[in-house]
Parts: sequence; C-alpha cells; structure tokens
Amino acid sequence: MALSPMMRHYLETKEQYPDCILMYRLGDFYEMFFDDAKLVSKELELTLTGRDCGLEKRAPMCGVPFHAVDGYIAKLVERGYKVAICEQLTPPGKGALVDRDVVRVVTAGTITEAEMLDEKSNNYIAACFYADRTIGLAWCDLSTGEFNFNQFEKNPLEQLSDALVRIAPAEIICNEPMLEPSTLLPCVKSLSVPKFGVYRMDAWEYGAAEESVGDLLGAEGKDKKYAVCAAGALMRYMSDMQKKSVGNVSRIELEDESEYMYLDASTRRNLELTATIRDTKGKKGTLLWLLDKTCTAMGKRLLRRWVESPLYRVETIRARQDCVEELTKDSVLLGNLRDDLKPLFDIERLSGKVAYRSVTPRDMAAIRNTLGALPELKRRLKECRAAGLRELEEQIDPLEDLYATLAAALIDEPPHLSRDGGFVREGYCEELDTARALGTDATQWLAALEASEKESTGIKNLKVGYNRVFGYYIEVTKSQIDSVPYRYQRKQTTVNAERYVTQELKELEEKILNGKERALELELRIFEELVEKLNAEVSRLQRTAKAIAQTDCYASLALVACEYDYVRPEIADDGVIEIVDGRHPTIERMGGELFVPNNTLLDGGENRIMVITGPNMAGKSTYMRQVALIVIMAHIGSFVPAKRAHVTLTDRVFTRIGASDDLLTGHSTFMVEMLEVADILDHATEKSLLLLDEIGRGTSTYDGLSIAWAVTEYLSSKLHAKSLFSTHYHELTELEKRLDGVKNYRITVKELGNTIVFLHKIARGSATRSFGIEVASIAGINDEVVARAKEILKNLQDNDINNGVANKVSPSTQANMFDAVSLKGYYEIKDILKEIDFDRTTPIQALEILSDLAERVKD
Ligand code: ADP
Repeated sequence: MALSPMMRHYLETKEQYPDCILMYRLGDFYEMFFDDAKLVSKELELTLTGRDCGLEKRAPMCGVPFHAVDGYIAKLVERGYKVAICEQLTPPGKGALVDRDVVRVVTAGTITEAEMLDEKSNNYIAACFYADRTIGLAWCDLSTGEFNFNQFEKNPLEQLSDALVRIAPAEIICNEPMLEPSTLLPCVKSLSVPKFGVYRMDAWEYGAAEESVGDLLGAEGKDKKYAVCAAGALMRYMSDMQKKSVGNVSRIELEDESEYMYLDASTRRNLELTATIRDTKGKKGTLLWLLDKTCTAMGKRLLRRWVESPLYRVETIRARQDCVEELTKDSVLLGNLRDDLKPLFDIERLSGKVAYRSVTPRDMAAIRNTLGALPELKRRLKECRAAGLRELEEQIDPLEDLYATLAAALIDEPPHLSRDGGFVREGYCEELDTARALGTDATQWLAALEASEKESTGIKNLKVGYNRVFGYYIEVTKSQIDSVPYRYQRKQTTVNAERYVTQELKELEEKILNGKERALELELRIFEELVEKLNAEVSRLQRTAKAIAQTDCYASLALVACEYDYVRPEIADDGVIEIVDGRHPTIERMGGELFVPNNTLLDGGENRIMVITGPNMAGKSTYMRQVALIVIMAHIGSFVPAKRAHVTLTDRVFTRIGASDDLLTGHSTFMVEMLEVADILDHATEKSLLLLDEIGRGTSTYDGLSIAWAVTEYLSSKLHAKSLFSTHYHELTELEKRLDGVKNYRITVKELGNTIVFLHKIARGSATRSFGIEVASIAGINDEVVARAKEILKNLQDNDINNGVANKVSPSTQANMFDAVSLKGYYEIKDILKEIDFDRTTPIQALEILSDLAERVKD
C-alpha cells in the first residue's frame, strides 16, 4: 500500500525535528502520530486513536483542538519537551494538498506568550560557552526582550554555578565541552531545569557570533570574546526556534559585577532570599515574599531581580533609598501612586507579543488602557522631589499618538481573537461603517420585506428567517401554502412549513453578505495597521515598562517600610555595621511569639568577630541571619527592621549554616561544610560579612574544635572579614583574650528550677554552659534518660577538673586541645625572651617585661 501524501509529508517533517514533539495541524485539530502520539497521550491523558494512512497498521494518533492548544503546549514544555508546530499555510479544500510547514518550535526557554508564563518571574534561556578555561554566559527573556551576557575567567565553573542559580533559566543550551561530566552537570544539578539542550553551530565561532549580535552589543562587550560567542549562539538558537528574527531585543547588556554584591548559591539558599530551604518553589517566608507589595507584573519581576542582585555602590543605594524615603513620608502620595499602578497591564510582555505578531485585539486594548492611565501617574511623580522619582517621570512615555489611535480604533472591550472581527470602533473608518451599516440596515429591510409580503399575500404568519445552509428564506406554514404566489421559489421543506426565496430576498441577501465580508476584510486590514504601528514603538513601550516597574518597586519597599516599622539604614563605606534593636525580618512576620530585638556592633577593629554561644534553640542562627538579612536589605535599597542601623558597604555575604547532606553531589554533611568553609577562606575580603554556624560540628569533638579554632585565628589575623561565629565549643570563648577583634556574646536564657526559659536576648560574655540536657528535656526526652544524662555529665565534669576530658574519653590522646593551646603560649613567651637585648634593657623596662610575661601566663 502506498503512503498517503499527507502522511508522507508528516514523516518528512518529523525527520527534520527528531527531538521535538510534532503537532501537525489537520483542520480544527493538531494531531500527533506514532511515538509522539503514545507519549503525549500518556503525558496529557488524551485518548489514543489510530488513523489509516496507507501503512500496514493504523498509525497511533492523538490530537488536541486548535483553540486549546496553548494549554497543552505549556504543559509539555514545562515537562522539558520541545514542541514543533506545523501549520496549514494554505486554506484547506479544493483538492490540492494543503501546504503545511513548521512555523515555530516552542521550548521552555523560548516561550513568548504571557499566558503560558508565570507573570511573577522572568523566563530565561541561557547559553554557556566553554573554551580555554573561560566561560561565556548569555541569558535572555524572550518575552520581555531583556538580554544579558558575561564572561567568567577566575573560577569559571564556580561563577557559572552561582550565576545559574541566580538566573534560574528554564532552559540551557551549551557547547560540547560544557557537557564533560565535570563541567556543566554539577552546576545544573541544583537547578530545577528539566532538560537542557546541546547546541553545536558555527555561531560558536567568534566571527559568526559577532555577526549575529554585533549591532546589539555595547562597546564594552565586544572584547569579551567568549561571552560574545555565547550571545551569538543564543541569538541564533532563539531565532531558529521562532523562525523569525528576535524583534524585541534591542540591546545586549554586559553585566557589570562591580555594581552588585556577590551572593553565592548556598548563601541565597541559606538566607531564603527568593525560595525557602525546604520548598524551592514556595515563596512564603522568603525575603522576596516579605518585600513584595508590588501592584504590577513588571514590578514583581523587577523586585525579584533587585532581591537577587543587591547593589554595591553607596551612591546608587542612597539614590534608591531617597525614592523609598519620600514615599514613606507621604502616605497619601504612596496610596495614590499604588492606585495609579494597579490597573496597569504588563506592557513589557505585551510588547513582546507585538514583536512576535501574536498580539490580539484584547492585548491592544490592554496597551491602550495602560497608556491612557500614564498621564495621571506622571503627574503624581512630577510632584516628587527625589531625583530618582523625577527621572522615572521623564522616562514614562504615554505615547500620546499611539494612545489616540488605539482609543479611536478599538471598542472598549474587544474580543480575544481578531479573525471574526467586531473590535473596531464605530466612527474610526468610514468605509467600515458603511459596510457594517448594510448589516444593521438589513434587519430593517428584512422587517419591511416581511411586512410587505404579508400584506401582498395575505398570509398572516409568514416569517423571514435565516439558516447557515440555505441563507435567508420566507417561511409559510403548511396550512397556508395555497396562498403562496408564483414568484416564490421553494427552497426547503420542514415538518410544518415550506421555505421559499424571492428575487428581492436574494438581492438583499447578497448585499448583506457582501457587507459582512467587506467589513471583516476591512477590520483585519485595520488590525494589521495597528500591529505595525505598535511594532514601531516596541522599544518606547519597553522603556516605559521599565520605569513603571521601578516606580512599583519603590512603592512596594515604601509600603513595607511603613507597615512594618522599618528605618532607613545609613550606608557608608566605613567598615562599620551597627544595628540598634534589629529584628529578623521574616520571622517577626511569620506570627508566633513576640520578636525580641537585638543590637549588633561589628567594625574593622576591636569588634570584628562575634563568637556567639548559647543553648540550642536560644536564637543563635536567627540572630546571625537577621544581621545578614538587614545588611542585604540595606544594599537592595530597602529600609530595615531596626530602630537604627548603620551598614557598611559589603562586597559579599558568606554563609556556612545548617547541616544537610548533599545527596545530589554525593557529599556528606561534613564534606559540604568543609567545602563551604574552604570557599569562604579563599574568597572573603575585609569587606565581607561571614556567617559561620557551628563549624566543625560534623566531625569528632577535637577535630571540630581544632578546625573552628584555626579558622577563627585565620579570620582574625589574615582575612579581617566581619564574622558572626556561633559555637557549642565553649573553649572557643578563650579566643577573646588571645586574638584581635574577637568578642564573646551569648544568647541569654533563664534557669527556672530544672528547666530553662529562652530570652532570645544577646549579651556580652560567654554562656556558662550548653544546657543541652535541659533542651533535650523540653523536647520531650523522658525523665529517666534526662536524669541519667545529668549524672553522666556531672561525672565527666568532675573528672575534667583533675585530668581533662580527653584522658577520660580516650586515654591514648595525651596531647589534648588545651595542651596545644598552652604550648602556643609557651612558644610566644620563649620568643619574647629570645628577643630581649639585656645590654640595652633598663631595670624599669625589665620590670615591665616581667609583668607582661606574668599577665600572659595568667591568661
Ligand atoms: P539556635 O540557632 O540557637 O538553635 P534558633 O535561631 O534556631 O536557635 O531559634 C530557635 C527558635 O527561637 C526559633 O523558633 C526562633 O523563631 C525563636 N527565636 C529566635 N530568636 C528570637 C527572638 N529574638 N525573638 C523571638 N523568637 C526568637
């Protein structure tokens, strides 16, 4: 049997898109065949049928109706599939084979329809190019036209990994070297990317890449060779998928890292900036959740980017603070501004739809309504004093001409689809009005015709009607047919009546149908003209969208500051962090008990390292995170939860918090901990803030204590980074006396009989003991075990007084920690004695040296 021509074409097309699910348009359906059909019927729970197509067996087939296809595509793409859409390019019928071709391939990273996307976040596709130990990274959100790139030379894989976690692309393409087991894979594991594509093309070569993106690069980007390669390949891939040029990208921006605070992947996770640790998708409890009171989708997306990339320049931070501050001081202005923002539509993504020609009449009305609301927003911003807000006023472009056209052309609430017409306003086009009038007048004509026929024939119940198959007719019931005149031609017989036409009715019908056809034709032409007009203004719309988004973010931060009683932090590059009555921003909002505020002082000198002790559950981690979050919020430009705050410019926040095995990379808890510590020691500077939560806990006591001790020494003497160091090793509180910049703190508890009460208040000095057994008892460990634990503890402590714990735990360990420490003191004293020049020492100086030595021995 020979293959049907349609099936032959299907198979040829499928051959060109082997990695895609091919949706093949047949009439009102998109059909899938063979393996695609089996797969999709399973994934989307569709009925699997079959089709005779000239093969021995019926081809497995399943289909979806064309008007609902978006939802199905969205589901498939979300699950990591690529979908190729094969459309009918010529109208069906009239014998000849319908022309069909793939018009677009939809992948997770190249969706442009706002309806398929989450309005709250950008949808990025990223391209990674790896060569000569350098990585070029480019990423783009096709729906908004934002396109960025960067190049990593130092620790490229680490930087890539951090960047990918921040960008969270929906799809990644890369060149082959990226796919070595040790390169991209570990970076991608922590992402929720379903599948990433490999893309090999000439565009990986610099020349070709530059050709495809050259015009869009700024001068500073051109010599970033590897980044340009990534950008070029991404551009080619995106236009290959769209099957047309990428119209809404007007610039490719080189990311300037020096403008932003660097936050690595684990710090973002640990501090729960945009996702909680437990639930990577959930937002509740994150910093973003707290700060997001935006009114528009554009604002929501921008605020996410602000939270993901805090600033690292005093002036830019202060400029943002000025805007937020002005709005916090005028609640009427803030309220009005938010009211102005609320009705605005997502013109950033709508302008993407314009550029990809998928805009609908309803979308156009949304753009029109938004433009119409902008003059009011501008007036409001004009009243402001902050330079940032006034600048936004200038950037918001109400595109009066375009607005006037759209307002005149479109009805108030146009339909979703353009193809049936009915969206152009009366009075916009005379010709259209005339054509339409034929339709409206027709009702009167028909009524008049009915009346005159009734009169001339004397048939009282004669009716003029319409059906789709036969058009207009005159209906006469069977009992009256004897009165029907000769000029009536019979057209159709029904149960009770006969239907006729007359010459006059035929002429009328032609007039009416011509009018309708003409009207639709005219409407579609007007629609095309409007699309062209809009398309010419895409970049102005984008600029306006950006300014609206910023206004929205300032308003959101201002509202949060007012509602939650935040203050404007002073920001300066002076090495000092001083927080009075600081609170943990999200915990205080999650309900539960009243939050106890706490102070913080960290500076470049005496107060560089806080060693924090206190029982479990006292609030050590909460305190440390609170400091980090306040510092980050200050860099975002937000106000902070405190009575007063001074925050120094901070280049990076590092965290070593919590203990969890990283099963994905096969690292144990201790290994993860040490990898993070290693990273901190390698990269922290004196401008960094470090959170070290109980390092060394994942191994034996002495190993752990030794590591913690050595790390603190290194922090104090080499890195000079500001550090918060929580620990159970009370031995570490010794360091205050020995090292520069170390101060002991404890989170206080109150002993009440056999139990303790957590006060959550930080105070100078170290905790007297761990209260581990009391906490165990509060947790519900039974009295017998608790009593026995207390007994054992007492024994251990009594013995410790004589011999040191080490001898009890492991008799062979003679040189214990404390000996090692006193040995260090011994060497210090030896060094001092060695350096004394007795010939030049006066008796007074000798006495001073002696007293100094005595002090050291006492310590
Ligand atoms: P630790 O790290 O010392 O074990 P956590 O920081 O995990 O303790 O805090 C234990 C509990 O105490 C948490 O449920 C937290 O919400 C609460 N908590 C911590 N600090 C405060 C505070 N300042 N005010 C009120 N509750 C607090």
